[in-house]
Amino acid sequence: MKSKKVLQIVRALDFAAWAHSSQRRKGGEGEPYINHLTEVSRLVAQATGGKDATLIIAALLHDVLEDQGKHVNYEMLVGNFGKRVAKIVREVTDDMSLPKAERKRLQIEHAPHLSRRAKILKIADKAANLNSIIESPPKDWSVQRKREYFAWAAEVVAGCRGVNPWIESVFDERLGEGNF
Ligand code: ZN
Repeated sequence: MKSKKVLQIVRALDFAAWAHSSQRRKGGEGEPYINHLTEVSRLVAQATGGKDATLIIAALLHDVLEDQGKHVNYEMLVGNFGKRVAKIVREVTDDMSLPKAERKRLQIEHAPHLSRRAKILKIADKAANLNSIIESPPKDWSVQRKREYFAWAAEVVAGCRGVNPWIESVFDERLGEGNF
């Protein structure tokens, strides 16, 4: 890999760790949020044979426009990581001004229209989330709520299929493990 790409990946990792420094995952173990980002970036890296630095960087940054306290905006991402990365992150970012149910509905609706990279990232993100629910579920989640999350994630991923058989098989495997 070219040295410039290595530098960009490490900068993205550092940026993500800073942006999410005060956040923990919802799971019972309360893992640091960065664990989610390294898992998703590892998945997209494996899915693309380590050849797509842009996607790895976008995966590390995929939640910075959403749920964190450091007020990162789109322009900041363009300035630091370029338009290609910023656009992928924007594609997978929910409009947080909308109610949660509406955001979830829109993810299903938008999925088929995402770019190829954003689809791979979306599938990796959902696979990581299923894994978290299996390994370290939020303490207040009922079986019903877990089932609903799995069913919703499957619907979002259905709209992303056809881009990368490997990541789809990882997702399907985890989906199959969720027999609550
Ligand atoms: Zn995520």
